[in-house]
Amino acid sequence: MTVATSANSYDVIVVGLGAHGSATVRALAARGVTVLGIDRFSPPHAWGSSHGETRITRQAVGEGEAYAPLVLRSHEIWRELEADTKLDLLVQCGGLVLAPTGGTAKHHGHDDFLSNTITVANRYGIDHEVLTATEIGRRFPQLMLRGDERGYYEPGAGLLHPERCIEAQLRVARAHGAHLRTDERVLTLDDDGSSVTVGTDKGSYRAAQAVVAAGAWIPELAGGTFAQHLKVHRQTLHWFEADDITNYSPDRFPVFIWMWGDKAEDYFYGFPVETSGTLGVKVATEQYGSVSNPDSFDHDVSEEEQQSMYRAQVAPRLRGVGPRCIQSAACLYTTSTDSGFLIDQHPEYPRITVVSACSGHGFKHSAGLGEAICNLYLDDGKYSSAFQPFLVKRLDIGA
Ligand SMILES: Cc1cc2nc3c(=O)[nH]c(=O)nc-3n(C[C@H](O)[C@H](O)[C@H](O)COP(=O)(O)OP(=O)(O)OC[C@H]3O[C@@H](n4cnc5c(N)ncnc54)[C@H](O)[C@@H]3O)c2cc1C
Repeated sequence: MTVATSANSYDVIVVGLGAHGSATVRALAARGVTVLGIDRFSPPHAWGSSHGETRITRQAVGEGEAYAPLVLRSHEIWRELEADTKLDLLVQCGGLVLAPTGGTAKHHGHDDFLSNTITVANRYGIDHEVLTATEIGRRFPQLMLRGDERGYYEPGAGLLHPERCIEAQLRVARAHGAHLRTDERVLTLDDDGSSVTVGTDKGSYRAAQAVVAAGAWIPELAGGTFAQHLKVHRQTLHWFEADDITNYSPDRFPVFIWMWGDKAEDYFYGFPVETSGTLGVKVATEQYGSVSNPDSFDHDVSEEEQQSMYRAQVAPRLRGVGPRCIQSAACLYTTSTDSGFLIDQHPEYPRITVVSACSGHGFKHSAGLGEAICNLYLDDGKYSSAFQPFLVKRLDIGA
């Protein structure tokens, strides 16, 4: 590890200041590392993967137990950031995962996501209940159930405010002395064997190491192995008007993931209505039909997209929610071939770590992951066992 010596030279440069980049910059700056963060926009913004007011956070993650330490640590960090910034970031309104009893509903690349969730909860001692359809219906009459559902209810799950989380991370990073450059686009990355050079549309910077957390632009920036194993997909989010929003307030209604059939598309998720945000019930599905370009995807959501969401998901399942769509947004998933995270050394530039932690479930882990990336730097680039499940090398693709 070398230490920064001149004006344009840093210990670490972080490219991208969204969910993961802002968390990494904050963690590094808090440990006294000289760090520069660069973003092509001015985060938080609505051009990548971290906008739309809310993200679900669950401590027992059906995507696999390797993720549990990240989200558990993240919950601690969100509370620390709230204390530091006085911003409300995490609302533990409870979370419900629903699937047909006896089914094996697949989600985020995992068969029987509901049973996986319960296994992780038991392994990590995460407070939860397993509910029958009758119990779910009694507790959450807003849901129109078929009667064959089984539910996992986690009282400590809930929602995060992604834009505020990023704002908090960057505010604290700045207070710890991080240098942040926004509206500056990184164009080139180089590693000459002793340091990294990052070229932008405004200048050139050097560092001992760099972290590329450029979200949907990683395939373009990191290329090679990463481009081969990541695809970008446009997603849509919709807020529908409820007859009485108090029925959907966070003290009466949880975040939910509802796999109502066994096929991957028999699925939607949603959020309670907070009076500080858009006054509608926010719902979404996942769309993998076509590949998107982050520079040219359609940011507008059509009325047909809104109404097909209402007809297929909302009308048959959420009581007292009408067809009027108050607001919609389009956002990007960067999905790996196995729906996991890809985090590893750049195959050509060993001083550059590439962090693609999306596949539609990365936000909840971002605070803990930023800290883990910081520890990677402090540990002289040694990937601890915690990283093994996420390394590109595990895909055996010769990175
Ligand atoms: C619709 C939707 C719903 C989701 N729901 C959930 C959920 O409920 N729970 C959950 O945990 N996760 C969820 N996710 C996933 C989560 O939001 C993502 O994993 C996370 O936001 C990804 O963060 P990131 O830092 O990788 O990308 P971003 O936050 O997009 O940050 C990348 C940054 O890199 C910058 N950048 C790109 N190229 C350059 C360049 N050349 N030079 C400089 N800067 C550059 C961009 O401007 C951007 O700010 C969801 C994602 C979407 C899209």
